[in-house]
Amino acid sequence: MLIDSHCHLHDREFYSEDEAEIAIKNAKENGIEKIVCIGTNHADSLAAQSFASAHENIFWTYGVHPGEWDDDREPPDFSLNPPVAIGEVGLDYHYGSEDKEEQKSLLREMLNLAKQYDLPLSFHIREAFDDFFTVLDEFPETHFKGVIHSFTDSKINLKKCLDYGFYIGVNGIATYAGVPLAPVEKILLETDAPFLVPAPFHKHHTEGDGSPIWGLVKNEPKYIKTIAGFVAEKSGLSLEVVASQTTKNVETLFRI
Ligand SMILES: [Zn+2]
Repeated sequence: MLIDSHCHLHDREFYSEDEAEIAIKNAKENGIEKIVCIGTNHADSLAAQSFASAHENIFWTYGVHPGEWDDDREPPDFSLNPPVAIGEVGLDYHYGSEDKEEQKSLLREMLNLAKQYDLPLSFHIREAFDDFFTVLDEFPETHFKGVIHSFTDSKINLKKCLDYGFYIGVNGIATYAGVPLAPVEKILLETDAPFLVPAPFHKHHTEGDGSPIWGLVKNEPKYIKTIAGFVAEKSGLSLEVVASQTTKNVETLFRI
C-alpha cells in the first residue's frame, strides 16, 4: 500500500471530474490507497474539502500558498469536516522577493492556525529556508509538526529540516535532478500532480538554457509507485520496505 501525500486532483483547472475519477481508479490499481488533496488558497481548499468528503480515503488540507498572500479569505470553520493539515503554506522567493514581508506575515497566520487546531503543516519553501527558520524561531514555545513538500534544496538545509523534526516530501523532481535524499524513515512520497511527472514518463526536452519543458504528460497519483521505486533503488531497500515505511510516515503525521 502507498499514499500520495500531496496532489491537486480536486482542482478542476487541471482535471475534469471524469479525469479525476479515472485518476482515482488508476491509483487504486497501482496500490495507492489514500490520497491527500492540498489546498492552495481559501476557495481551492474548500474545493479540496468537498472533493474529499465525496470520496473514501481522500483527505484534504487547508492552506494559502505563499504566492497567494493577497488571497481574499475568511476565517475557516473546521467544525464539521476538519482538514488533516494546514498547507500548502510557506515562503517562495523564486520569482523575486518584493512581497517577502507579506509572505512572512501570511506564514505566521498559517502557523497560528495550525497551533489553534493542533494540526501538522505541509510547507512549500523555495529559496527561502533562512527566513523560514527565522519565522519558526518566533514561536519558541511551539514545536510544529510537518513536511517540507517538494524538497529540492541543499544538504545543509535538509539536515536543518530533519533536525527540527520535519518529514521530507519526495516527488518526481528527485527522479531526474540531483536532490539530496532523506532517510526513508523521514520521507513522504508525493506526486504534486498535475505537476512534476517522474522520470521516465516526463519526456522532457530542454530549452537553450538547459531548463526542462514540462506539461507533455499530466501527473496523477498512480506515479507514486514510480517514485517509490526510485527511492527503493537509491536507498538500497526493497519496494515493500519503502512502501510500508513511507505509508506509516504519512499516517503518523496526518493521523489518517
Ligand atoms: Zn502542491
